Amino acid sequence: MYPRVMIDLNKISHNTKYITGICREMGIEIAAVTKVVCGNVEIAQAMVENGARYIADSRIENLKKLDHLNIEKWLLRLPMIEQVQDVVRFSDLSLNSEISTISAINECAREIKKKHKIILMVDLGDLREGYFTLGDLFYDLEKILEMDNIIVSGIGVNLTCYGAVIPELEQMNELIDIAAKIENRFEIKLDIISGGNSSSLPLILDGKMPKGINNLRLGDSIIIGRETAYCKVIPNMFNDAMILEAQIIELKDKPSAPIGNTGVDVFGQKPVFINKGIRKKAIVAIGKQDVEIDDLTPLNLGVEILGASSDHLILDVTDCCEDLYTGSVIRFKMGYTATLRTMTSQYVNKVIHK
Ligand SMILES: *Cc1c(COP(=O)(O)O)cnc(C)c1O
Repeated sequence: MYPRVMIDLNKISHNTKYITGICREMGIEIAAVTKVVCGNVEIAQAMVENGARYIADSRIENLKKLDHLNIEKWLLRLPMIEQVQDVVRFSDLSLNSEISTISAINECAREIKKKHKIILMVDLGDLREGYFTLGDLFYDLEKILEMDNIIVSGIGVNLTCYGAVIPELEQMNELIDIAAKIENRFEIKLDIISGGNSSSLPLILDGKMPKGINNLRLGDSIIIGRETAYCKVIPNMFNDAMILEAQIIELKDKPSAPIGNTGVDVFGQKPVFINKGIRKKAIVAIGKQDVEIDDLTPLNLGVEILGASSDHLILDVTDCCEDLYTGSVIRFKMGYTATLRTMTSQYVNKVIHK
């Protein structure tokens, strides 16, 4: 049934094996991130079998689905205080930056006689999560180290998410420096220095990642096959592991500009039209509720995306040489946002082939 996402598990397996291999050679272990595929069990399994050292997700609901997989699981998004019970049950490690939450985790972990690992996040300028001053971090860490059921595994940074800051040698060295300061001051050993997400890969690929960084958390690069600092496709990786297919429900010749006085569209935007005369147009059964339109690339040659409403995607197929008809299937390559949205949409089928 359409619309559907066709998932090529072999390509995802290849991508995982390839990138974890390159990273491992540089002493870097990978937490494979499943959030863009909503914690899909088969995809997670493929990541585990092909070199991921940990599985990570930002939603505890997704980690619950993966509970049976025999691998250490990380919760990426800072836990909500009300969910700490699930955090302790379904993740082995979580990223944290608030002592009140860590303290609640400690209580919970003690109740069920478990130890919970944490990575303390530091904010090196991207302005999403993390301690912003070393003073704050030291102040909290002193108390955290007294919590019997918390294990401080290491520190981490997240970049290129909110502030679009590109990871460079400077931030990586700063992270390594902070780790050394913590180790000296508190006389502890930090096992994990986590240098970011898929945007840190150019440093690896260029051979510039400093020694000391020993972990990355990768989602986008494994699934989409590209780094996210400059958005380049990574050589030897597939960037078409997931393809969207949607079906034509109307195919007619129509003018390229609307007729009548125009206001705003259903999303409150004022659309702009170029008058190219009468064109052959197709409507396919998918819309903004299911996918990010700007993040789609048609794979059928000569097909151009014109726009969309909630459930209708409108295409200009005048220049397509294929013999299209009502019921024909149009295929699209997807970027990160489109992948995220289609995987989340209950109206889009997911078909895995191996
Ligand atoms: C989503 C996320 C990642 C993975 O990012 P990608 O760009 O998909 O590699 C890593 N770390 C954190 C904290 C995240 O939220």
